[in-house]
Amino acid sequence: MGNISKNFSFSEFEHSDTAIREGIENTIPSAEVGDAIRRLTINVLQPLRDSLAALLIVESGYRCRKLNEMVGGVETSQHRKGEASDIRSPFFLPLDIARRIVSLKLPFDQLILYPTFVHVSHKRKGRQRGQILYNRRYAGEKI
Ligand SMILES: [Zn+2]
Repeated sequence: MGNISKNFSFSEFEHSDTAIREGIENTIPSAEVGDAIRRLTINVLQPLRDSLAALLIVESGYRCRKLNEMVGGVETSQHRKGEASDIRSPFFLPLDIARRIVSLKLPFDQLILYPTFVHVSHKRKGRQRGQILYNRRYAGEKI
């Protein structure tokens, strides 16, 4: 499927260490999921990457049903639709990444701060809710 933007490729959204370990084939299943990933990247991830000017790692992108179950995700997870990704950077705290998304006014649907990464989603269709949530294990500063 190849590149989506200057710094992101579809394979990053399919990659999962858990999937590899468990022998799960986590490939983008449809044009709709591919389109959702593309929109998330073009509208949120690439502009964020450009602003930070630093490596941004997709920890978890698309999740097939099996992988999602394996990592304890709910079936309604936006990861299932390609609308969400968990991102981190070796150079920025999750709080800094989240603050940058907000200050750039990027069109996110949900932003969830975790201790080591940020979950960010962008709906393929419909209004972006702009919700900011904190995982129960997140003990850092709020936005
Ligand atoms: Zn997530």
